[in-house]
Amino acid sequence: MNGSILKNGCILKKYRWNENYEILIYNMIQTEVLIIGAGPVGLFTVFEAGLLKLRCHLIDALPMPGGQLSELYPKKPIYDIPGYPEVLAGDLVDNLLEQIAPFKPTYTLGERAETLEKDDEGQFIVTTNLGTRHRAPVVIIAGGLGSFEPRKPRIENLDRFERKGVYYFVRDPDFFAGKEVVISGGGDSALDWANYFAENEVTSSVSLIHRRENFRGHLDSVQMMYDLQDAGKIKVITNAEVIDVKGTDELDTVVVKHTDGRIEEKYTEAWLPLFGLSPRLGPLGEWGLEIEKNAIVVDTFDYSTNVDGVFAVGDINTYPGKLKLILCGFHEATLALQSAYKIINPGKRHIMKYTTVVGIQGFDEKEEVTTK
Ligand SMILES: Cc1cc2nc3c(=O)[nH]c(=O)nc-3n(C[C@H](O)[C@H](O)[C@H](O)COP(=O)(O)OP(=O)(O)OC[C@H]3O[C@@H](n4cnc5c(N)ncnc54)[C@H](O)[C@@H]3O)c2cc1C
Repeated sequence: MNGSILKNGCILKKYRWNENYEILIYNMIQTEVLIIGAGPVGLFTVFEAGLLKLRCHLIDALPMPGGQLSELYPKKPIYDIPGYPEVLAGDLVDNLLEQIAPFKPTYTLGERAETLEKDDEGQFIVTTNLGTRHRAPVVIIAGGLGSFEPRKPRIENLDRFERKGVYYFVRDPDFFAGKEVVISGGGDSALDWANYFAENEVTSSVSLIHRRENFRGHLDSVQMMYDLQDAGKIKVITNAEVIDVKGTDELDTVVVKHTDGRIEEKYTEAWLPLFGLSPRLGPLGEWGLEIEKNAIVVDTFDYSTNVDGVFAVGDINTYPGKLKLILCGFHEATLALQSAYKIINPGKRHIMKYTTVVGIQGFDEKEEVTTK
């Protein structure tokens, strides 16, 4: 039988190829709640949607879920997640994935949501940079900082050594094991990684270069860095900056200029310029949403935007008193879903019940054949 079927909330075209084979082709990914961004807040949105029996599909530009937690600091402990005195960012992502597994979310990963349109039936169509089309009555934007763009130093030839000795993120600290590493920067990211490598003796050496005398990072981290320096585990070079990079196929030297004019060539197997991320809303900024200081303005009643049916939760939104914290994003997602439910089920009343009472009613794999 040819026709469309609905599987895990996705429309697939079903063709009978011959009497033995059927092929399924993704025509348009249909879901009830389309989530842009699979960071912690996007993932928890799936859980709250699942409690309301709403199916979700997530789009993320990164190749894996977890957002900033997976991309920027998977091995760092977080201390302000309720119920967890301490949890590694990567473990929190794993736990969220386990928590939402019963609700069988589907994903478009490694693709950036580019455009938002409405079709004749009032459903949103979101198309990615690779042309994948998604259709849903509700869109929840959990896009965090937007597309991740590291602040890169202005050095000619830098791109030649990217991922060949020059790294803007530490995805896996073990990757740097036994290497001679130079880190540049004066903020938390630079300090934290320099301290981590030195304290745990991951790298064979670690030097931290900062162009000023004073560091911007947390006072505890600065103190720790000086303690590690006294213990001979880290070399701190202030009032200096890397002005050039050299090597053949891979980076092997950074050229350091001191403010007194001295130039020094330093052997290194990895240079990490950790100057932070510049928040870029990217295509989301062109979706007709009200934007203020690179963030989407929302109504705190339900975190709705100025476009009916589109909500924004987590780091991407702004409102008076906004705090960019994971637990705030979890709360925002919970309230947004209450209004999303009413859009998807007009006239139907939802009575909130505690999970301790009803448990978790996950979705089964059963395919529903539609007549469309
Ligand atoms: C070093 C560091 C330490 C931190 N420590 C803490 C802490 O201790 N406690 C705490 O509460 N918070 C902490 N934070 C902040 C916390 O990480 C953020 O509040 C949290 O990640 C926000 O989650 P999110 O899901 O809103 O966004 P993100 O984690 O930023 O995820 C957003 C996702 O959306 C995707 N995306 C964006 N635009 C598009 C698009 N157009 N198409 C497809 N995908 C898109 C991105 O690729 C990303 O994966 C820390 C942050 C940093 C950098």
